[in-house]
Amino acid sequence: MKRSFNFSAGPAALPLEVLQEAAAELYDYGGTGMSVMEISHRSDEFVDIARRAEADVRDLLAISDDYAVLFLQGGATAQFAAVPLNLLGGKRSADHVDTGAWAKKAIEEAQRYCKANVVASSKATKYDRVPPRAEWKLDPDAAYVHIIGNETIGGVEYNEVPDVGGVPLVSDMSSTLLSRPIDVSRYGAIYAGAQKNIGPAGLVLVIVRRDLLGRARADTPSVMNWTLNAENESMYNTPATYSWYIAGLVFRWIKRQGGLVEMERRNRTKAQKLYRAIDSSNFYHCPVVERDRSLMNVTFTLADEAFDKAFVAGAEAAGMYNLKGHRSVGGMRASIYNAVPEAAVDALIDYMAAFEAEHR
Ligand code: PMP
Repeated sequence: MKRSFNFSAGPAALPLEVLQEAAAELYDYGGTGMSVMEISHRSDEFVDIARRAEADVRDLLAISDDYAVLFLQGGATAQFAAVPLNLLGGKRSADHVDTGAWAKKAIEEAQRYCKANVVASSKATKYDRVPPRAEWKLDPDAAYVHIIGNETIGGVEYNEVPDVGGVPLVSDMSSTLLSRPIDVSRYGAIYAGAQKNIGPAGLVLVIVRRDLLGRARADTPSVMNWTLNAENESMYNTPATYSWYIAGLVFRWIKRQGGLVEMERRNRTKAQKLYRAIDSSNFYHCPVVERDRSLMNVTFTLADEAFDKAFVAGAEAAGMYNLKGHRSVGGMRASIYNAVPEAAVDALIDYMAAFEAEHR
């Protein structure tokens, strides 16, 4: 069996153990003689899979009963619309912090439903940081404050939860959720597309404080209505059953590894090594200020972008895939999610040193 070192930003590497478990019961789930893909979402077997996955993710993130946990579809992009639709209530505006490509997408979508105020932006410094909290011009009357917990493309992450007073804080945690422990109680709502640390694409996790439910706009599509989905245990319509099942296997894998404390330990080890390798060279450069660097998506450029193609090709020849940066920013990006082993990062660092020696 070939297993490559996969640095993809998403869909991304999954733990081998999880894939093996899924393979072992692909044709016959729990003696049913049917695949999880082939059974009803209303069956006892699937309802058990669904509830167990929810219980495990609640356990991992220490999510209290004050929050609903939803397993929805449409990716994080659907939530760019679902957030205003569900949270505006009677209000007309929401505050947004602009940290890069995903913040921009969220702002553009929110603007279809309300006035999306950009209360701070790091655009002037090419999105190399999270704008310092002291510079945010928050509106106490806004329905919520929206942030991107980790900019997957830019590699910029909030390493502290910003204090936004009494206004609910909403974070797109697509590429950071489950990488380390977080304090869910600081947020009104969190959402995350699954295809990074959670499981396969096709699923988006929404964690919302229950007191924020019940205020969806009347014209909210039912599949995007958090309240309706909370009332129906995310089975208002047919959910993404197989993705939900794999997510459940991933949650159990994380628990077996030692939970989010252990994930953070491993992830910090990987990220620190890689950033150190970049910073200690004059050939590679990380464009993000140290304080706001992402634990999951390490972005870097080469001394001359003319080397980019050869760098990517050489990496692939050495078994390392998906290092090319997003087409909108160029350069390189190594996404080092939970399932990416330290050995992958070690191999990358060795390759980077060899490439530098050859091209300096
Ligand atoms: N937000 C962030 C932070 C992302 O990284 C992505 C996708 N990589 C999205 C939103 C969009 O997610 P999706 O493609 O699942 O809609």
